[in-house]
Amino acid sequence: MSSQDTPNQIASPLRPFGESIFSQINRMAIKAQAVNLSQGCPDFDAPAFIREAARDAIESGNNQYGPMAGATELTAAIADDARDFMKMDIDAASEVTTTCGCTEAISASILGLLQEGDEVILMDPVYDCYRPCLALANVTTRSVTMQAPDFALDAAAIDAACTERTRAIMINTPHNPTGRVFTRTELEALAEVCRRRDLLVFSDEVYNRIVFEGEHVSIASLPGMADRTITLCSLGKTFSVTGWKIGWAIAPPHLTAGIRAAHQFITFGSAHPLQHAAAVALRDRSEYYTQLVSDYRESRDLLCEGLRRAGFKFNMPEGGYFVLCDHTHLGQPDDIAACRWLIDEIGLASIPPSSFYANPAQGSQLIRFAFCKRIETIEAALERLARL
Ligand code: GLN
Repeated sequence: MSSQDTPNQIASPLRPFGESIFSQINRMAIKAQAVNLSQGCPDFDAPAFIREAARDAIESGNNQYGPMAGATELTAAIADDARDFMKMDIDAASEVTTTCGCTEAISASILGLLQEGDEVILMDPVYDCYRPCLALANVTTRSVTMQAPDFALDAAAIDAACTERTRAIMINTPHNPTGRVFTRTELEALAEVCRRRDLLVFSDEVYNRIVFEGEHVSIASLPGMADRTITLCSLGKTFSVTGWKIGWAIAPPHLTAGIRAAHQFITFGSAHPLQHAAAVALRDRSEYYTQLVSDYRESRDLLCEGLRRAGFKFNMPEGGYFVLCDHTHLGQPDDIAACRWLIDEIGLASIPPSSFYANPAQGSQLIRFAFCKRIETIEAALERLARL
């Protein structure tokens, strides 16, 4: 039998998940030469100061393995940033672990802290790497669906979904794909459930610097939460370096022990020179952050105006760089069909979000567009939308 005829071998926990929706859509978009608003990935370059910092870091000889928990310059910069921006009082040496992107921070936290028999509550829709990673750790999940169009965080529903096996809740704010930024009141209600039930919180905050309405609140900063929260962040979204894969997990020492126990055997460390460049990037950037939000606000407003004219219904994203729309006026049976139809008919690629739900039917009326793109790209998308 030639290798072409050999059936694929995939470990059983991963079999239900198939190929990531991002790879599938990118392939279709390239083939159709569509304007690509699918993957959340800037189509413009990173700022000059961070590229320069990377060149300097390589030239000044940081090209061997760094410390397992992260370069001390970076962990110190992360601790200062967390203190100033996220109101978290943390110790760099014992509470910060740098990882290969936030994706590894998520997997190292799950694999290092959870085990078979544990149950985790997910608030659907959830970013597509959470479930496969929990499955690899033999952890079971229960879903509490946030309901369109408001996608409110329903702490009472989460409380009702908990069982005696529930160990943790995973949250994400600003939220991919809904564009929600959870309010302090919503997070306080969730924190009360976590304290009362003695639960851990995995809080994915990779879009924390991209907030248009309200404020970014880290659940770890709420009373009694620092001791039970793993805050997961990255450099990619804030500095448009998604390909650098520099992320980190912030957690109290007793939880950091589990994260590092896993991290040391998964990757041991991310690219060492890029960690040094990240440390430079995180220092004194308030003007850059203001500009980032103002640029993304312009992109958001431009795209949303075009989507509204084309008949899509949605709530304005409060943060992050996605807008989640109802596509039913297109007359397609589900999100995958609508997405395919938009690529074929008008040459515009988006993401069908049903793979972000345990029950795909719950996402079948929705479609996600990314606006982390050049104004020219968004204008090209608007031209195509105008054909509808
Ligand atoms: N986070 C990005 C998104 O949601 C994509 C990441 C990926 O391709 N896995 O679009």
